[in-house]
This record gives sequence, structure tokens and C-alpha cells, in this order.
Amino acid sequence: VAFVQESHRLAFRDELTGLPGRRALDERLRALGPHYVIAMADVDHFKGFNDTHGHDIGDQVLKLVAARLAEAGGGAEAFRYGGEEFCMLFRDKTLKEALPYLEHTRAAVERYKMAIRSDERPRHQDAGIRRRGDSVPTKIVSVTISIGGAEPEIERQPPVQVLKAADEALYRAKKGGRNRVAT
Ligand code: GH3
Ligand code: MG
Ligand code: MG
Repeated sequence: VAFVQESHRLAFRDELTGLPGRRALDERLRALGPHYVIAMADVDHFKGFNDTHGHDIGDQVLKLVAARLAEAGGGAEAFRYGGEEFCMLFRDKTLKEALPYLEHTRAAVERYKMAIRSDERPRHQDAGIRRRGDSVPTKIVSVTISIGGAEPEIERQPPVQVLKAADEALYRAKKGGRNRVAT
């Protein structure tokens, strides 16, 4: 029984970020009421970030981004959709109601400065500041995210279509200059 529970947990929860993963999202999308919002969030220029700082630091940044999304508020649930893409689901909210939370989350990621000691993984910004006296060189990194949000446009619209609309909105956020929310 423990083994089955463990494989179930691994399939539904993303190991790196601790967020529920794609399969958990699929299950949620099967049980939605008439009003909900799906938002897709994607880290900006993350390929370049990895190229500059390395994949391990990239992984740590994904964790910190995931933590910001998980505390979005407004009843939002955050999922790791895959790679550097995340999904946020607001059950029982309209797009108009969800927008301030999306904008707040975007700004929270932009504000978040991560202190990275060259010999270590990134640590929480406060811990980095406390260690400023150390001789170990520290660099501060940050990333931004773009977000696209959508809600059902007609009654009983399949959630997969709403997700597609959110993805199209995300594309517009990227085209519009990134580090922004589009609908
Ligand atoms: P854009 O602003 O258009 O989204 O640019 P981008 O560079 O973020 O987009 P692109 O799709 O070209 O690259 C995504 C990058 O995300 C490529 C890959 O190295 C990185 N990535 C995806 N998953 C992970 C992961 O689990 N860990 C790390 N470190 N990097 C990842
Ligand atoms: Mg992407
Ligand atoms: Mg990206």
C-alpha cells in the first residue's frame, strides 16, 4: 500500500518544486463549475538564464518562482505544467476578479532577489543579506514571468479550450514585451 501511495504521490506532485503536476491539473479540470479562470505563467528568457548561470541555479530559481505562485492568494492553485511553465487555477472566480492576483504574483516574482553564493545554491534573500560580511562572492539574480489568463466564454466550454485561450494570452504577453499579464 505504501508503495502504491508513493508512486501516486510522485505522479501527481512535481519533485523539483513540490507543486502538483500535470496529472493533478487534469483531474482538477474535470471537476469545475461554470466560473473559473485558468492562467498560464512562463519564465521570461529562461534559456538565457540557464546559459548564464547554469542549470542547477535555474532549478533553484524555478523552486522560488513556484513558491511565489503557490502564495498567489485569491484561492488560486498553482501547478507545474512542465519545464518553466506553470498553470494557475481560480475556481469560482471571474477573470476580472482574478486579474489583481495575477498582477500581484507577476510583481512578486519581479521583486524577488535571490542571493547566490558562487559555491552554493541560492538562498532566501534575507539569509543572503545576513551573510553580506562574508568574503564569499555573492551575486544577486532575479527573473520575471509572463502570464496569460482566460475564462470560459460560453457555457460549458471545455476547460482544455480555456487553457488554450490562456496559452494564446500568454503568447500576447510575451509579444507585448514580457513581464506582464495579458488576457
Ligand atoms: P521566453 O521568454 O520566450 O519564454 O524565452 P525562454 O528562453 O524562457 O523560452 P524557451 O522555450 O526558448 O526556453 C525555455 C528554457 O527553459 C529552456 C530550458 O533550458 C529551460 N528549462 C525548462 N525546464 C527546466 C528545468 O526544469 N530546469 C532548468 N534549469 N531549466 C529548465
Ligand atoms: Mg516556455
Ligand atoms: Mg520561458
